[in-house]
Amino acid sequence: RSNAEKFEFQAEVSRLMDIIINSLYSNKDIFLRELISNASDALDKIRFLSLTNKEILGEGDNTKLEILIKLDKEKKILSIRDRGIGMTKEDLIKNLGTIAKSGTSAFVEKMQTGGDLNLIGQFGVGFYSVYLVADYVEVISKHNDDKQYVWESKADGSFAISEDSWNEPLGRGTEIRLHLRDEAKGYLEEDKVKELVKKYSEFINFPMYLWASKEVDVEVPSDEEESSDEEETLESSSEDETEEEGAEKKPKTKTVKETTYDWEVLNDMKAIWLRNPKEVTDEEYSKFYHSLAKDFSDEKPLAWSHFTAEGDVEFKALLFVPPKAPHDLYESYYNAHKSSLKLYVRRVFISDEFDELLPKYLSFLRGLVDSDTLPLNVSREMLQQHSSLKTIKKKLIRKALDMIRRIADEDPDEFSNKDKTEIEKASGNDEKKGQYAKFWNEFGKSIKLGIIEDAHNRNRLAKLLRFESTKSDGKLASLDQYIARMKPGQKDIFYITGTSKEQLEKSPFLERLTKKDYEVIFFTDPVDEYLMQYLMDYEDKKFQNVSKEGLKLGKDSKLKELKESFKELTDWWKNALSSENVDSVKISNRLDNTPCVVVTSKYGWSANMEKIMQSQTL
Ligand code: ADP
Ligand code: MG
Repeated sequence: RSNAEKFEFQAEVSRLMDIIINSLYSNKDIFLRELISNASDALDKIRFLSLTNKEILGEGDNTKLEILIKLDKEKKILSIRDRGIGMTKEDLIKNLGTIAKSGTSAFVEKMQTGGDLNLIGQFGVGFYSVYLVADYVEVISKHNDDKQYVWESKADGSFAISEDSWNEPLGRGTEIRLHLRDEAKGYLEEDKVKELVKKYSEFINFPMYLWASKEVDVEVPSDEEESSDEEETLESSSEDETEEEGAEKKPKTKTVKETTYDWEVLNDMKAIWLRNPKEVTDEEYSKFYHSLAKDFSDEKPLAWSHFTAEGDVEFKALLFVPPKAPHDLYESYYNAHKSSLKLYVRRVFISDEFDELLPKYLSFLRGLVDSDTLPLNVSREMLQQHSSLKTIKKKLIRKALDMIRRIADEDPDEFSNKDKTEIEKASGNDEKKGQYAKFWNEFGKSIKLGIIEDAHNRNRLAKLLRFESTKSDGKLASLDQYIARMKPGQKDIFYITGTSKEQLEKSPFLERLTKKDYEVIFFTDPVDEYLMQYLMDYEDKKFQNVSKEGLKLGKDSKLKELKESFKELTDWWKNALSSENVDSVKISNRLDNTPCVVVTSKYGWSANMEKIMQSQTL
C-alpha cells in the first residue's frame, strides 16, 4: 500500500512472536480468549469515560457496547470487532509492537524454560497469541481522537500502519482480522467458535454476537411441480372436485430450506457476584477466578470469600486466594504496587488500579468489589479520595484474613484440627489436606510483611504465621501450637534467626534449651529479622531471641555462686576485649557443651541481622 509506514517490532516482542509462531503448543484456542478479553477491556474503558461525558459514545450503532464475530470461510478470515475505545495511530504503534511491557521478557524467559503458553495473558502480551493460528493479521481501529488506521503484520519482524481509505468505517472501536493458517481452518466452523466463545465469554459483561447461519423454511414459487399437481388433480378429480377448485386459486409454492445469516447472542452476562452465594457452585467460582485473574492453569483457587457488606457503605465483594503467587509479586513490592482488585460501581467497571482497596501486603489476592454507595459520575481521582473507601478497605482486610484462616481451619494437617482429623478422614474429604502449607509456601512472606505494616491486625496475622522449630519435625508449626507445647513455667517464646535450619540446628545457643526440652523457633528468611522487631508478643507471651541477652531458663541456685567464684576471670576478660568490643562478660546457664558464646545485647542487631545489613550495603 502506497501510504503504509513500516515499523520494526521491539526486539523482545519480535522474539516473543517467533516463539509463538514456532510453538508446538496444541491448545491454540486461547487466542480467542485473549481477543475477547482485549475487546472487553476496550469496552470497559469507553463505558467508564462515558460516565462523565455521555457525548463520547456518539450515536446510532456507536452507542452499542458489544462484540461482534464474523467468519469468512472463503477468504479464511476470522474477525472480531468491538465498539470499545479504539486505538489512535500512536496507540497502535506503541501497544502492538514498539513498546515491550515488563512481562514481555519475563514471558520469553518462561517459554524458553518450558513454561505454559496458556498463561500468556498474565504477562500482558496476550494479543500476540493470534499468531498461534494466523500468519497475517490486520488490526483496524478508530479512536475518537484520530482517523481510522490499519495495523498489519505477517510476523516477519515488522509491521505496517496505514490510514484506512478502503475498509468500511468502524465508527469507533477495533476490528481484528485473522487470516488463518491452513491448519487452523477449524476456527471457521460456527459450532467450534460458538463453543469457544461461550466458554470464554461466560463472564464478559458485554453482549457477544456471532454472524451465524440459520436454516429456515421458505416458500418459493414452484413452476415445475405445477404439472405434477395437475396430474394429481386429474387423478383426484373424480373423488372431490370442490376442494380441488379451492386449491387452484392459491399461487403454486413449495417449501425449501434456505440459509440466512443473523447476529446470534452467545452470552448471558449474569454477573456472578450479584448472585446468591448459595446458588453458585464451586466450579463456577473456580472458573470465574481463572477468567478474572487470567490464570489459566488448571489449579483451583486456594480459597474464596463472597459476601455483601451492609450499613453505611454497601458493597458486594468476591475475593480469591490464587493457587500460586504471580511471577513478580515481591519484585515490584516496594515500587510499583500492582493492585489486584477490580472496582465496579453499580456493575460498571471503574478501575483495576485502585491502591486504596487493599493494603500492599494483601496485593496477592484477586477479586472485585462492586459498590452501591460510591458515585458513578465522578473522575477516578475523586473516587480515590472518597470517604467510604476507608470503610470498604477495612472490611475487605477483615474478610480476607478470615478467608485465609479458614484455609488453615479446614486443613486436617493443621494443628487446630488435630481432633477433627478423624472426622475429615471419615468423610473422605482429602481436598483440603495440605492446603495451608501450600498457601504458606506461596504467600507466607506477605503475611510477615503484614505483621510489619499493619499494627492494627498484627495479632490476627500472627495467628497465620508458620515456621519450623526444634520440635516441628520437618513440618510447619503455628504460634498456637508452640504455646500448647510450652513447658510448665516457661514464660517466653524462644526463637533463633539465621540463614538455614541446618545451620541453626548446630548452633551452640540451642544446646541447653534442647537439653531442657524447650522448643525454639527457626527464623531463616531475611525478612524475619525485621518481622521480629515488630512482633513483640503473642497471647501475653514475649518473644526471646536465644542469641540475645535476657534469656531466662528458670531459676538456677548455683548460678549466683558461680558468678562470684569466676568474677576475677570475667573481669579480666572484659578488660582484655575492651568495652569497644563487648558490653559485658557474664557467667550464664545458657550453654551445655560449648565453653563460651557471643551474645547480642537486648536491643542490638543479632549476628544474622549484621550479616543481612552487610550484604545489603555491599
Ligand atoms: P493486555 O491486554 O494485557 O494489556 P495485550 O497484549 O492483550 O495485553 O494487548 C496489548 C494492548 O493493546 C492493550 O493493553 C491495549 O492497549 C491494546 N489493545 C489490544 N486489543 C485492543 C482492542 N480491541 N481495543 C483497544 N485496544 C486494544
Ligand atoms: Mg489482553
